[in-house]
Amino acid sequence: MNKFIFVSGGVCSSLGKGVAASSIGALLESRGLNVRMVKCDPYINVDAGTMSPYQHGEVYVTDDGAETDLDLGNYARFTKGRLSQANSITTGQVYEAVIRKEREGKYLGKCVQVIPHITDEIKSRILAVSNEESDTDVVIIEIGGTVGDIESIPFLEVARQMIHEQGKKNAVSVHLTLVPEVAGGELKTKPTQHSVKTMQETGIQPDIVICRSPVMLDEATCRKIALFTNVDPDAVFTSPNIDTTIYQIPIVFFEQKLDEVLMRKMDIETRYADMCTWNSVMEKYSARQEKVRIGIVGKYMDIHDTYTSLNEALFHASLENGVDAELVKIDSSLLEETENIDSILGGMDGILVPGGFGQRGINGMIKAAAWARTNKKPYLGICLGMHVMIIDWARNVLNWNDADSTEFSPDSKHPVISLFEEQVNVKIHRIGASETVNEDGTHIIAAYGEKRITERHRCRYGFSNQYRSEMTASGLKLAAFNSDGALVECVEWPDHPWGVAVQFHPEYKSKPMAASPLFREFLARCQDKK
Ligand code: GLN
Repeated sequence: MNKFIFVSGGVCSSLGKGVAASSIGALLESRGLNVRMVKCDPYINVDAGTMSPYQHGEVYVTDDGAETDLDLGNYARFTKGRLSQANSITTGQVYEAVIRKEREGKYLGKCVQVIPHITDEIKSRILAVSNEESDTDVVIIEIGGTVGDIESIPFLEVARQMIHEQGKKNAVSVHLTLVPEVAGGELKTKPTQHSVKTMQETGIQPDIVICRSPVMLDEATCRKIALFTNVDPDAVFTSPNIDTTIYQIPIVFFEQKLDEVLMRKMDIETRYADMCTWNSVMEKYSARQEKVRIGIVGKYMDIHDTYTSLNEALFHASLENGVDAELVKIDSSLLEETENIDSILGGMDGILVPGGFGQRGINGMIKAAAWARTNKKPYLGICLGMHVMIIDWARNVLNWNDADSTEFSPDSKHPVISLFEEQVNVKIHRIGASETVNEDGTHIIAAYGEKRITERHRCRYGFSNQYRSEMTASGLKLAAFNSDGALVECVEWPDHPWGVAVQFHPEYKSKPMAASPLFREFLARCQDKK
């Protein structure tokens, strides 16, 4: 029988519940268990695809093309289990499915209600993940939001029912709270006491409490929390603020014996945890020496979570290359306004233009690409970053001054970027994994060391095929195509140390112990330039 761990949060949001849940997954894997992760998102959107980064941070994309919450990216970086649409459950999906079944008469005339119909739908989705692969040992279900929110009630009700149905040894509750420090350095446990009380009101007694706190909780504080919450004193843990990297959290939990307590609660016997992977990540972290500065030119720069996978991929590459990469966020609109672009980009060892949507800030990104091209600085363009690289080439090398993407300028006389459907006559929104075939003698094939690669897309616009011959004749290298050759996947600058832009998003598949080859190469070339 599989085991279930429900991870909920209290007091306030942004305590790092996703990283805590992922770290628990990593710890269980280190004990040889097969773990699957599920995120329950209480919002009514069916998926995160239509949500602005300002609302919800990055949209993470899975192989099967699910547009999900960014926590799935954390799961992918910390754990090995497969992630797909099934691992992301939203209120929107659940209601959509229940209403569809109701219209089809599937409920046989019953009055359709939150309990049991909505909760049964959620439960069946969790069980589907649990039963998908025969060797799954533990399913970790992270419940988005904060206990007490109206929206998360049905998900917590599912946790309550499943703990009851599966039995206490088979389904446990882990609750993450905040223990703030007030003036004078005193730690305050009251918000945690109240948060656990709110959990108890929903019918769930947390088995484990993890306290996010500026410092490690001392024994007396843990005992106090245990006393007020009915949790064993050795089941109160700290997730302290750390100034290294999130990849230290599995080690921090291991040092507090979180894995041992979980094993005891779930009555599982396994080998001792093998923390090699995470110890080696931390060794690489400490061994980084040389410093490079990477300018990331985008338009959502003031929002912390917009480029999570991208920042992580650069960090993974920095571990692999033994270099400390400083990521300098540059708002592309600043570049639009300035006459002196050197004053902003001059100190950068490389430029990265990430994916994005919409017209705002585009001209600043085009200027950044032109700057990297003419100053021979390494450049990595991702999706929109490929589009701006091509627009710069068309405008400034081919002198087609009005060249543009039809996303921004539908009537341009030189639409060098246009909808895929205008090129292949089928309506496509490219989303999820597909194959790319790399041309010989290119930077991209050198980076991957392979002719055929699989990466994920999230786009509707790309290189306009009508310009293939003129672009190639002017020197721009078409370095990779999709499997039938109909779509351009990568372009590279000639006579340039490393200017590479891809239509896909390599950041989604990067891992702390296996950096994405393109990020690794990009950073290596930035090191060369230094
Ligand atoms: N806006 C562009 C498109 O839809 C680029 C998308 C992206 O960067 N992911 O194709």
